[in-house]
Amino acid sequence: MKTLLQMPAVRTCAAVSCSFNDGGCHAPAVTVAAPGATASCATFVESPVHGGIADVTGSVGSCARTDCAHNTSLACTAPSVTVGPGVTASDCLTYQPA
Ligand code: SF4
Repeated sequence: MKTLLQMPAVRTCAAVSCSFNDGGCHAPAVTVAAPGATASCATFVESPVHGGIADVTGSVGSCARTDCAHNTSLACTAPSVTVGPGVTASDCLTYQPA
């Protein structure tokens, strides 16, 4: 059994109202969902609880946007991703139709 040391980093995230955002994403592994035509970060949450691990940079754990050029078997193969407002408050802006 292996564990992954290197998943695509959330290089920048402009969804500043997210509880995991403190000058960037600190969720250990975000999930990108595919509601409708969007590639929306499903880990986005607004809560009084400060989320994540302070010294960890967020990364993409899984992605349901299978029509993205960076998607292989529901995993993201981009070097890193950018998240920010798009159709939703927290879209994957690195999404690229295949
Ligand atoms: S770049 Fe593509 S595969 Fe990677 S998280 Fe964004 S939408 Fe998913």
